[in-house]
Amino acid sequence: MTPLARPASPASPPRPGPWAWLAALPTALGLALPEACAGCGRWETALCPGCAALLDAPLAEVTSAAAELRVHAVLAYAGPGRALILNWKNGAREDLAPVMAAVGARAGERWAALSGWPGDRRDAGALDPPRLIVVPAPSGIARRARGRLVAASLADAIARAPAPPPGGAGGPGPLIVSADILRRENGRAFRGAHQAGLSAAQRRRNRQPPPRVLADAGGWDALIVDDVVTTGSTLRSCAAALRGAGARPLGALVLAATPPPARTAARLPGPAPAGLPGGGERRRRAAAKRF
Ligand SMILES: [Zn+2]
Repeated sequence: MTPLARPASPASPPRPGPWAWLAALPTALGLALPEACAGCGRWETALCPGCAALLDAPLAEVTSAAAELRVHAVLAYAGPGRALILNWKNGAREDLAPVMAAVGARAGERWAALSGWPGDRRDAGALDPPRLIVVPAPSGIARRARGRLVAASLADAIARAPAPPPGGAGGPGPLIVSADILRRENGRAFRGAHQAGLSAAQRRRNRQPPPRVLADAGGWDALIVDDVVTTGSTLRSCAAALRGAGARPLGALVLAATPPPARTAARLPGPAPAGLPGGGERRRRAAAKRF
């Protein structure tokens, strides 16, 4: 039987970038290294530098996802980014769990810096600390039964990240907690939280009533977290439900957005990794050819 051909290693390895810590995480944690990158499939690495850089890209604002809610995404739900998320979600790559936890924590810190939280909330009440609940979008019963709660894992990671420093007002430091308090109405799943395979019209028809909120959220700021945003309807319904429970939804943070946030690919440091379908510039050229 002919063994699978492996591409030759590049003559000179890519220069370590600011994302190198992410690619080194599985090794640092003593995890067995699978033979291929979880994103692009490149051999002999669990996470290649290019895919680690994708996961460590600056947050991009997803302008069309949910008009009344600022949505930020780490990467585009396409190519190796999509493969990374699917491999994590479906359990094919358990070694991605600590990587995604680190990505969530980093993204949470960046979100706080971008949104200015807690900002003037520090001064709103000197006796009470600014309080933020990180709320995962609700998972369906099937996913809960499998115990693979991707959005909840991200919310936990964000809540564990270091809180922004106390403000100059001298009040107590901000409080950030993960709160898995949303449940889908009637226990029914959305027809796929990410609505893969549906047309835009089907996705619009697929809107659901706001989920139930299991706790009083009065007085809390809220950050909604999900793995992938498609139309933003899930995030909008979560925000509506949280408002109804007295919270103040400040925005949403997702791992990936589709269609891709334009700035994500353009900001990638260094050359595109081998085997990737191309960066933003290549996609723009391809789109220009089509029209
Ligand atoms: Zn890769």
